[in-house]
Amino acid sequence: MTIDRIAIVGGGTMGNGIAHVAAQSGKQVRLLDLSVEVLEVAMDTISKNLDRQVKKGLIDLSARDATLGRIETGSDLAAGAEDADLVIEAVPEKAELKYDIFRTLDRSAGPDTILASNTSSISITEIAARTGRPDKVIGMHFMNPVPVMKLVEVIRGLATSDDTTRQVFALSEELGKTPVEVNDFPGFVANRVLMPMINEAVFAVMEGVATPEAIDTVMKLGMNHPMGPLALADLIGLDTCLNILEVLHRELGDDRYRPCPLLRKYVAAGWHGRKNGRGFYSYS
Ligand code: NAD
Repeated sequence: MTIDRIAIVGGGTMGNGIAHVAAQSGKQVRLLDLSVEVLEVAMDTISKNLDRQVKKGLIDLSARDATLGRIETGSDLAAGAEDADLVIEAVPEKAELKYDIFRTLDRSAGPDTILASNTSSISITEIAARTGRPDKVIGMHFMNPVPVMKLVEVIRGLATSDDTTRQVFALSEELGKTPVEVNDFPGFVANRVLMPMINEAVFAVMEGVATPEAIDTVMKLGMNHPMGPLALADLIGLDTCLNILEVLHRELGDDRYRPCPLLRKYVAAGWHGRKNGRGFYSYS
C-alpha cells in the first residue's frame, strides 16, 4: 500500500508541523482538532512558515499554494479518519486521551489503515492494545519544529509488524526525514536522554546555581548544543516536559526522573513556554 492520504489528529505545535511537511511532500492531508480556533491558528502558522521558505528561496509561490491546497481541516475525528491510509495522532501527552482516540480511530478507519502516535513517552504497546490491529500501530516521533528537524524516531510496539515498520520508514524518507528504529520503552531514546538533562537544568535554576540565561549559555558554548536546555524546554512546552517526566518516573520507578518542583510550579501557573508567551523566558 502506498500512503497518499494522511489524517493528523491534533493541530497544535506538532500537528501543524506534521501537516506542513506531509502536504509539502505531495500528500493529501486532513488536519483534525476539537477546536476550530486551533485549526485557524494552525493554518496561519503553516502559511507563515511556507512564506518564510519562499523568502529564503527554498520553494516558489506555486509550491506554497499547492501545499496549502492539499490541507483540509475538520473537527469530526471519526469521519476525518475514514479514508486515510495513515493517521498520525498528536494530541496532548495524556495516556487516557490517547487510548480513547485510538479506540475511535480503530472503529472508524479502514482495516488497512496504519495508526501512528507522535507520543514522546507513552507505551506504543499499550496504545496498540486498545485496538483490534496492534500490528498496524506504531510510534512516529517527529521533532520540534517539524519542518526543520530531520529525525523521526520510529517506535515498534511489541506487536508492530515488519510491514508496518517498513511502510512508515518509507514514508518518513518521502517526507525528507531520517527514520531511526527504536524499541518501546518509556521515553524511547530521545526523551529518555533529553528530559533528565532539562529537569536537572530546572533544578539548577531552583537551587540558585545560576540564571536560566547562564545555564543555557554554558550548555551552548561549553557543550556545543545549538540551544540551551531551558530554551529548548520552552520550545517543547513545559506542560509537555512535565507529562513526559511523569511517565518516565512512574514507568521506570526511579526517583532520578522525579519532575523538579519548579517545573510543576511553572506549569501550575500556566507558564507553558513559547506557545503561550511565558516559560523560563518571556516571548512577546
Ligand atoms: P499541543 O498542546 O500543542 O497540541 C495538542 C492539540 O491536540 C491541541 O490543539 C488540542 O486542541 C488537540 N486535542 C486535544 N484533544 C483532542 C481530541 N480529542 N481530538 C482532536 N484534537 C484534540 O501539543 P503538542 O506539543 O503538539 O504535542 C502533541 C504530542 O506530540 C504529544 O504527545 C507530545 O508529547 C508530542 N511531542 C511534542 C513535542 C514538542 O516539542 N512539543 C515534540 C515531539 C513530540
